[in-house]
Amino acid sequence: MLSTPHILTGAAIGAVAAPLGLPAVFCFAVISHLALDILPHTDDLLLEVPFSEKYSANDILSVILEIVSGIIIVSYFVFRSSVPLALAVGALGGLTIDLIDNVPFWKGIRNLPIFKQLHQFHEMFDGAVRTKWKIVGVATQFIVIVISVIVLMQNS
Ligand SMILES: [Zn+2]
Repeated sequence: MLSTPHILTGAAIGAVAAPLGLPAVFCFAVISHLALDILPHTDDLLLEVPFSEKYSANDILSVILEIVSGIIIVSYFVFRSSVPLALAVGALGGLTIDLIDNVPFWKGIRNLPIFKQLHQFHEMFDGAVRTKWKIVGVATQFIVIVISVIVLMQNS
């Protein structure tokens, strides 16, 4: 799944679960990552290319732009929220598993103990659609983003 749905869902959880405390927000956001990964989804271009292959500048640029746009959208809500830290912690929690397990530049850590098990665990939830039904994989993420934005608008 792309970064933006994970970031926004985490932030939405932060907005709703803020009274439970930041550790709870973080844990719920991490769980939301796995729940979202089960949905049929497309991944960013870097995840669709085997690690051994070289990435094109366009692939890298598109991924950076996607992540930056997600951060910009969530920043808008963080700055107008009465619980900005909860939103930020939720956004971070929503992305944490991918930050550990899916960044091409340190995918090598998947070979290390604990990270290897984390990767195997993460893969169990992978509902990525890589060939057909790509439109479904895009639609699910669009719906997740819309729901998260609605929750953020109503809780800030
Ligand atoms: Zn993931």
